[in-house]
Amino acid sequence: MKKDPICNMEVDEKGALTSECDGETYYFCSEGCRDRFLKERVCKFPRTSYDLIIIGGGPSGLTAAVYAATLKMDAFLITKDLGGQAVDSTKIENYMGYDFITGTELIEKFQDQLIHSHYIDHLMDSVEKIEPVKEEFAVTTSDLRKYSSKTLIIATGMTRRRLKVPGEEEFQRRGVFYGNIQDLSFVQGEDAAVIGGGNSALQIVENLHTVAKNIHLISDSVLKADPIVIERLKKFKNLRIYEEYKTEEFRGDKSLSYIAVRKLASEESREIPVKGVFIAIGLQTNSSLVSNLADLNDRGEIVIKPDCSTSHPGIFAAGDVTNAFGKRIIIASGEGAKAAMAARQFILNMRNK
Ligand SMILES: Cc1cc2nc3c(=O)[nH]c(=O)nc-3n(C[C@H](O)[C@H](O)[C@H](O)COP(=O)(O)OP(=O)(O)OC[C@H]3O[C@@H](n4cnc5c(N)ncnc54)[C@H](O)[C@@H]3O)c2cc1C
Repeated sequence: MKKDPICNMEVDEKGALTSECDGETYYFCSEGCRDRFLKERVCKFPRTSYDLIIIGGGPSGLTAAVYAATLKMDAFLITKDLGGQAVDSTKIENYMGYDFITGTELIEKFQDQLIHSHYIDHLMDSVEKIEPVKEEFAVTTSDLRKYSSKTLIIATGMTRRRLKVPGEEEFQRRGVFYGNIQDLSFVQGEDAAVIGGGNSALQIVENLHTVAKNIHLISDSVLKADPIVIERLKKFKNLRIYEEYKTEEFRGDKSLSYIAVRKLASEESREIPVKGVFIAIGLQTNSSLVSNLADLNDRGEIVIKPDCSTSHPGIFAAGDVTNAFGKRIIIASGEGAKAAMAARQFILNMRNK
């Protein structure tokens, strides 16, 4: 794989668009990025000032980006990854136009639409800071590059909650995972644990039951997933359920070997040997970038008006990071479209002032 010098996206060198520059071959995700490279000839320092910066490339941010392109806006997308949580969904049965599609397939279609049909400037990076500067916003990325914009769409969604027990950080990706479908093969033919008692934990158990040898499902309460799912899982011969057990520690040498659990309200504790553990104990809202700028509710969600505007003029928000009802791909996409249209209106109003 090669890295597109304009947007940092990983591209397969076989069949990728290329350009020669100073005796070196560069690889691009799209004609749009290659055009920028050829036009600017300063691939490491692309332009930095826009009318709109969209932060987050899940369903809401990608839809906002495609809408911004169709509305011919001067827009820029910055995202840590493409697809967000939707990539983890193995089975989407509630997105219009498809009876059934996997998260990866749907996001590939979104990505194609963005980089081939409705190109806008984009960068694979994490936004670390947003500061209001006069009537604009200064946006700083992880490598301390700064961009400025008249409007922002915050589409940073949610990420999985951490358990915060000893060993969790140490064994990240060396036995400790958060249920991404791509990670399940780590425990092929081995013993695994799933921590959590809700629908997402049980979805991981369902995906694991033909992959892992034995599965230990550990929940600090009684299982809270839908009863129909619990009934289905209880038939799995390779599943052992530990209700009202607290996970206390992850142990191992170079990679995870055991998890230590304790029965709540008792001294009974035990070590369970596992090669991998998948933690699914809920999600947290990624709203900290604007927590000092826009109103949040008590769940940490950005409070939006029907047009996706927030309490701070020029900042719009869309998708799971907001208080909009329903955490779903189709809702996040719709909200992303709305936010792009509202940001455009805001810019037109600014110009007419
Ligand atoms: C396992 C699982 C299965 C699901 N199944 C379904 C389903 O079948 N049907 C359905 O409708 N919904 C499903 N959902 C819910 C659905 O995925 C979400 O509602 C949807 O993805 C929300 O989209 P979003 O764009 O608002 O946020 P996210 O998908 O959370 O995307 C947020 C994006 O922002 C980026 N980001 C975050 N912080 C920063 C930063 N500081 N700088 C730059 N980028 C940043 C992230 O990397 C990510 O790309 C599922 C969710 C999970 C976890």
